[in-house]
Amino acid sequence: MFQGLLLTRTDDGALKATVTELDDAQLPPGDVIVQISHSTLNYKDGLAITGKAPVVRSFPMVPGIDFAGVVQWSDDVRFREGDAVLLNGWGVGETHWGGLAQRARVRADWLVSLPGGFTAAQAMSLGTAGYTAMLCVMALQREGIVPEAGPVLVTGANGGVGTIAIALLAQLGFEVHASTGRPQEADYLRQLGAKEVIDRAALNAPGKPLQKERWAAAIDSVGSHTLANVCASIRYGGVVAACGLAQGMDFPGSVAPFILRGVTLAGVDSVMAPMARRTQAWERLAREISPELLARNTETIGLGDAVATAERLLAGQVRGRVVVDVN
Ligand code: NDP
Repeated sequence: MFQGLLLTRTDDGALKATVTELDDAQLPPGDVIVQISHSTLNYKDGLAITGKAPVVRSFPMVPGIDFAGVVQWSDDVRFREGDAVLLNGWGVGETHWGGLAQRARVRADWLVSLPGGFTAAQAMSLGTAGYTAMLCVMALQREGIVPEAGPVLVTGANGGVGTIAIALLAQLGFEVHASTGRPQEADYLRQLGAKEVIDRAALNAPGKPLQKERWAAAIDSVGSHTLANVCASIRYGGVVAACGLAQGMDFPGSVAPFILRGVTLAGVDSVMAPMARRTQAWERLAREISPELLARNTETIGLGDAVATAERLLAGQVRGRVVVDVN
């Protein structure tokens, strides 16, 4: 038996989230059982746990799109009992029981070996948000963006993706501008490496199709009007890595930045990203992020706090990352 957060639907269609005792026999099929030590709360977990968007496709479901722990049993030659592993995405926590529990049974194909130098807790201080921030940085670099090209904007600056993206870009020598709705956190964003902090109100309302050329590139976790205004403000030949929808899923923009300024919109997906790219992202994170920064950027909670914290996350009241110590 083990503890997990279980989402169920009541007869009247309401969503119930309860920490409960679960049995190994209830775990979904898979060829590796992982003894989980840490999971996290990402924006998508917030949507799943509160039911604010249809992230969960079948019930009952253990949410949690990522986890880290130790292999307890393996039917696959790539993993042995005692191996330290982590997992992000692949529909785990959406269609397959996820990380907000003390055990998970998953496909070996989905697991990444914990990069050397990281504890499970540190890997989850990054979690899917931090790994996605790295995928966004890699997307900008693939398109040839270098520090000399000019400042890079990060939207949703105080969030999980935003804080890690700021730290990674600053560490690589980029001049980082951060857009936030929380000006009271400006000093914190500067400590992470932001040179300028701007009010997100300047970006989140309908704007002109082409605006003053301000940034060489951007990492956007917000979507909607913000993404449209960011694209309209990118310098000639620049790049926007788009990964999120905190403002909305819509994209009320025009093609003008793409066809008149040669701007590239690079979509970033973490869920189905191929293994080679995941491994590269995690290896880079292990090299490029300092443990002190992770500690400063992380709040640790227990399974019993997950529901209340998910509400705070969606209300934009969480700064940085939330790690869930499931034991
Ligand atoms: P967080 O909740 O940690 O951060 C989101 C941030 O966005 C908030 O902190 C806030 O920053 C800003 N924000 C919130 N609401 C609004 C709004 N209405 N308008 C403008 N800005 C807003 O979430 P994560 O960092 O975990 O995820 C960010 C986004 O990226 C989510 O949409 C998530 O689904 C997506 N994502 C996508 C992935 C992929 O594979 N493509 C993987 C991981 C995340 P501030 O207070 O500073 O303004």
